[in-house]
Amino acid sequence: MKYISTRGRAPVLDFGDVLLAGLASDGGLYVPDRWPELSPEALSGSPGRGDYADLAAEVMWPFVDGAYSRARFDELVRDAYAAFDHSEVVPMVELGDGLWLMELFHGPTLAFKDIALQLVGRLFDEELARRGERVTIVGATSGDTGAAAIEAVRDRENIEIVILHPHGRVSEMQRRQMTTVDSANVHNVAIEGTFDDCQDLVKAMFADVEFRADQRLSAVNSINWARVMAQTVYYVAAVTRYGLTRVSFSVPTGNFGNVLAGHVARQMGLPVDRFIVASNRNDILTQFFTTGSMAISEVHPTMSPSMDIQVSSNLERLLFELLDRDGIRTAKLLEDFRATGEMRIDPRISAELNQNWSGVRVDEDETTAAIAELFRDTGMIVDPHTAVGLAAARHTRRDADGAMVVMATAHPAKFGDAVEAAIGSPAPLPPALAELADRTERCERLPNDLRAVKAHVAQCSARAFG
Ligand SMILES: *Cc1c(COP(=O)(O)O)cnc(C)c1O
Repeated sequence: MKYISTRGRAPVLDFGDVLLAGLASDGGLYVPDRWPELSPEALSGSPGRGDYADLAAEVMWPFVDGAYSRARFDELVRDAYAAFDHSEVVPMVELGDGLWLMELFHGPTLAFKDIALQLVGRLFDEELARRGERVTIVGATSGDTGAAAIEAVRDRENIEIVILHPHGRVSEMQRRQMTTVDSANVHNVAIEGTFDDCQDLVKAMFADVEFRADQRLSAVNSINWARVMAQTVYYVAAVTRYGLTRVSFSVPTGNFGNVLAGHVARQMGLPVDRFIVASNRNDILTQFFTTGSMAISEVHPTMSPSMDIQVSSNLERLLFELLDRDGIRTAKLLEDFRATGEMRIDPRISAELNQNWSGVRVDEDETTAAIAELFRDTGMIVDPHTAVGLAAARHTRRDADGAMVVMATAHPAKFGDAVEAAIGSPAPLPPALAELADRTERCERLPNDLRAVKAHVAQCSARAFG
């Protein structure tokens, strides 16, 4: 399998290069040069022993064929999902009337990003070992992604990871998820500043070409193709394991990575009716799917912070498809969007999109009401991100629809305040979170000062080369 850039001007690469490169050199995102078909084994839902790791290896194999032996790839996949706290990895529960919840939060940090990152951390390490290279991953977090990235690469031999968070501005639970990881290659830094300060520091380090090369800086952000690839698997699992014949998915969306993975599964032959792109009051995607145009405005903080995004980077991969994989036109559309803050697609394309995509905005009151209503009716508790997906599913469901699967993207205990506001008490803490309170924290506190932070990063990566 070869990979091409959505902007048409970057070199064609193999999987291993795409994995390590992240963004393409022309500013585009890498996609496979064609969509492989799901194998009959994958579509029947019963490859090998019929468990999640077997299905995952079967679905992903065409994307990585040539980069690993099949036996080694199977092993890496099996290892990635071994520590999930549910034997089915991504179990589904039926809420009644053909409405389902797929629980994507059984990984080590109790959020759906673990499903991709647990695998990608291992693939990264394998590729680096093959090349005899090491990297230092540097990132900034406002809370959740930092923990998922740390868990993904802890104890990996060829990776150091340095995660910056704003001192005193992440929840205690989020901080402890990062700082109690007892692995020598994990380095937490609390910056005396805001999340934006942390992001600016990271950007400045990457922009310093010499520093970047010297310290072998790297990232595993949400535009990485391997993350999308790993997420296609659970869409296949949803359809095949539960024998659903007609199905739509409602997906709480931020960077558009999760729902794009569903689109990829559909391109590979998975029968899916519709994707519901569920947004909170940051509703630029709702505009896009209902009108074919969108305009950037400011980001509003909500109780579903992982969806507080204006420019969803992975949308570029869908636009590339809609423009018949014409990289030059895609580049022009996105460059104009950057320059003007506005985008409008051809009305014909927009009409076509309307047949199997819907954008739905859910405001804060509706989100709280969705948590409360589900609890009243079933005793189940969902987190505010999932609640946005649930409310969107209920809004748009038509009588003629088949099954509707809502993606549950985080464990409710991670969002205690929002849950408490809805049902009067927070969700019970699962053991993985409860035991964090007794663990020792490791964290370096630094001023919001680029020189000090660079010196610290250099020290951390020296460990890698020492
Ligand atoms: C990241 C995240 C999302 C958004 O997923 P995208 O792939 O960015 O669209 C939704 N919910 C939770 C809990 C997340 O962590």
